[in-house]
Amino acid sequence: MTRTRYDRLYIGGAWTDPAGHESIQVRSASTEEDIGSVPLGDEADIDAAVDAARAAFDDPAGWARWSPERRAEVLERFAAELEARGEETARRVSAQNGMPIAVARRIEANAPTRLLRYYSKLVRETGIEECRPGAFGGATLVVREPVGVVGAIVPWNVPQGISFMKIAPALAAGCTMVLKPAPETVLDAFLVAEAAMAAGLPAGVLNIVPGGRELGAHLVARSGIDKVSFTGSTAAGRVIAETCGRLLRPVTLELGGKSAAVVLDDADLAANIEKFFAATLLNNGQICYLGTRILAPRSRYRSVVDTVTGLASSLVVGDALDPATQLGPLVSAPQRDRVESYIAKGLAEGNQLTAGGGRPADRDRGWFVEPTVFADVDPSHTIAQEEIFGPVLAVIPYADEAEAVAIANGTDYGLGGSVWSSDPERATAFARKVHSGSVGVNHYVNDLGAPFGGIKQSGIGREFGPEGIAAYQQPKSIYLDPSAATAH
Ligand code: NAD
Repeated sequence: MTRTRYDRLYIGGAWTDPAGHESIQVRSASTEEDIGSVPLGDEADIDAAVDAARAAFDDPAGWARWSPERRAEVLERFAAELEARGEETARRVSAQNGMPIAVARRIEANAPTRLLRYYSKLVRETGIEECRPGAFGGATLVVREPVGVVGAIVPWNVPQGISFMKIAPALAAGCTMVLKPAPETVLDAFLVAEAAMAAGLPAGVLNIVPGGRELGAHLVARSGIDKVSFTGSTAAGRVIAETCGRLLRPVTLELGGKSAAVVLDDADLAANIEKFFAATLLNNGQICYLGTRILAPRSRYRSVVDTVTGLASSLVVGDALDPATQLGPLVSAPQRDRVESYIAKGLAEGNQLTAGGGRPADRDRGWFVEPTVFADVDPSHTIAQEEIFGPVLAVIPYADEAEAVAIANGTDYGLGGSVWSSDPERATAFARKVHSGSVGVNHYVNDLGAPFGGIKQSGIGREFGPEGIAAYQQPKSIYLDPSAATAH
């Protein structure tokens, strides 16, 4: 991979000299090679970016006042510019965070354009205001105004998809934004800046300042921000929520998970193994919604353990940029250490290791961990309760459906999950009992037209679908003159 270097930041619609002199060095997760650098954002850069976003939002003839159709035209051009950069986007993400290139092409090269087009169509078709007959006569004009300047903070695991879960609805609603990417995945964010400029996005509508958690904290608390949208760990979300609570600043939080993949006693897992893989181990286990707790009926426990063990042992582990790779490295050395510490805890707690547990013998560079399966796991054990964020599955036995529901719901999280059965109606009935923001039946794939988000410690608020744009709108009621002959 050729080395990519940027010396300036995208602020106020132009390439701008950074306030500081430090840079973020990016390394390949697969080879540990130096693959690029970008300026490390400074608090002064965040200040400049927020001021630019504020000026763009407050402009009386600007973005926020444009018709939804006019904004949609620009967002559709933005989508086309991103599409033209899709392959390079996939390659940069894959090299940085270890996402297998086949997955990056499907998700990271695709989701941004699909989200921009989805929300452009939504605002074109539904508009931003409606006139309602009054409950007691008269009529009310309900206007969904943009909430203002958004501070958006994203993690490294699906950097493009998650960024555009925020950018697309926020900009379609008429908001302006300062985006802070995670330091591990910055090279792809600069392609977004290039695409925004090529599409003619007006100055200040989107600004991108990369940096770490202190910079993120500065953005969250900065005056001039009207709304915060955060995706990341529950620990960071709690700190951000405290700040937003003090400031009475609206906040959307998409946080961690420890979802259950519930195998019912009539499931044919082997026939659905690719879908089961996508629901449990996609992106090397680095996705928040994955069902990393496999709940298996005691009546078929050994056969489920064998299937899951066989799946993990059969995966092609390799360089993320190799199209044959099914499981790449973890994003960084600290993340690999963290995952290995959980494997050590799993062993110390007496769980039975049936696959993996170490580093692949044929890889001496890169932050690899073997796909790992623990069996006979007690639901109270650490590896069954805490989010590991790596390719580590825990297979937990249950006696009957009532116990399966209790175990599935027996965590602090509630983000995703899946139910597997030969009888889709039975599985759907089970899914209704799972305390979670979303559950898949015989698969788990996000639907960008339907709300996604968490309950309990998995977050507050929803992204995707009409609910996703509502998070960036403030409804205002104008009670129309009762003496006017017709409604507005
Ligand atoms: P993280 O919380 O450490 O960092 C996420 C982002 O927040 C980064 O950009 C980081 O720089 C920034 N940040 C960290 N602390 C901050 C603070 N106090 N104030 C402001 N910004 C701060 O998480 P991570 O390790 O990068 O990502 C993995 C986590 O993200 C996992 O827990 C995973 O479940 C979660 N995640 C959740 C979803 C979801 O939709 N629910 C999606 C993807 C990832």
